[in-house]
Amino acid sequence: MEKIKMTTPLVEMDGDEMTRILWGMIKEELLLPFLDLKTEYYDLGLGCRNDTNDQVTVDSANATKKYGVAVKCATITPNAARMDEYKLKEMWKSPNGTIRAMLDGTVFRAPIVVKGIEPCVKNWKKTITIARHAYGDVYKASEMKIPGPGKVELVYTAEDGTQERELIHNFTGAGVVQGQHNLKDSIESFARSCFTYALDVKQDLWFATKDTISKKYDHSFKDIFQEIFDAEYKDAFENAGITYFYTLIDDAVARVMKSEGGYIWACKNYDGDVMSDMVSSAFGSLAMMTSVLVSPQGYYEYEAAHGTVQRHYYKHLKGEETSTNSVATIFAWSGALRKRGELDNLQELVDFADKLEHACIKTIEDGKMTKDLALITSLKNPVVLNSQEFIQAIRKTLEESL
Ligand code: NAP
Ligand code: MG
Repeated sequence: MEKIKMTTPLVEMDGDEMTRILWGMIKEELLLPFLDLKTEYYDLGLGCRNDTNDQVTVDSANATKKYGVAVKCATITPNAARMDEYKLKEMWKSPNGTIRAMLDGTVFRAPIVVKGIEPCVKNWKKTITIARHAYGDVYKASEMKIPGPGKVELVYTAEDGTQERELIHNFTGAGVVQGQHNLKDSIESFARSCFTYALDVKQDLWFATKDTISKKYDHSFKDIFQEIFDAEYKDAFENAGITYFYTLIDDAVARVMKSEGGYIWACKNYDGDVMSDMVSSAFGSLAMMTSVLVSPQGYYEYEAAHGTVQRHYYKHLKGEETSTNSVATIFAWSGALRKRGELDNLQELVDFADKLEHACIKTIEDGKMTKDLALITSLKNPVVLNSQEFIQAIRKTLEESL
């Protein structure tokens, strides 16, 4: 069989621990035999980040801006224990944080739905994708404990020295206060990333805040989304047959629980933190969660939502068998390959990405899976495979479909 051609390289960001082992196996078994794989390789493994003073992370983000599409393996975010383990010069920042800041993007997380791994919410038939705003609000708040009676105010001092004040509270006893902020630019980027992604996957976009109570803060989020939608995306949404739907956050939560899924739910920072854990755990497994960073300019970086699966890696190092689920990492590759195919007009590459995803789903639905899924499946007598056998089983299913 002739290998499928690519014209533009994918930005390949290798990573750490068990996911790095899976990364190699996925390329060996599922990509290189079928594709004339073109990538520009960046080693984001902690050793190389340390050797290059983290320059490699910056270079990989710049390459993503140049080519438009990246695929990333999970990476270690260093903590005190990692400083010793990897003899680090510095406690390097999270690569995901660095890349997100450079691309100014929003992260979209969606579960992979298969028969036999049913969501706890029985009416959820299709995926619910959470888009979380990644800047500001309570995560960048200033707080104070108020010891006793006194007046607390918000004060804005403009560059020319003029001031505006707003009373928070006249305290008659002890209490607490908090000052939050967000930025127009950041909210606009968030909105554009959401509208871009909704058009990309042709799904409705939902957004919710508490604008009835927060008439300036939350209402600004609502207004900015609506203004950008009306000015830049309305026609495209109509042509794509999708809708933008705004409601109050409590109404959104009630509707989500009763819905059958199949939409993107844009959330303010705190709502996204809470709701993404709810949605992912209700859908079954962290190992079946995909993640894509979308910049307002339309750059894409695909990855799995889970980490480097450290516990399995230590078993692997001891020569013990592992049964680590590679599906989310495979979907990171298929997502990136599909996007590359769409941008470069390579239908064969798009079809290959579809078949690769289908092969993962069919393998599991045929009862062959890793241990994490075997523990939660409703299928009778699942066959539990080790990390390598599972990838080889997917290869067999894939070959049958090609
Ligand atoms: P983790 O790698 O997500 O794994 C936590 C646990 O979840 C595992 O021990 C395993 O449970 C289960 N699990 C996760 N993915 C799995 C898979 N593909 N197949 C089977 N089971 C899976 O989180 P962590 O152990 O807390 O973090 C390890 C490292 O990952 C940390 O250094 C952290 O900084 C990094 N991290 C990176 C990213 C990223 O790059 N995007 C995200 C999160 C964390 P059992 O042990 O019970 O089998
Ligand atoms: Mg959380």
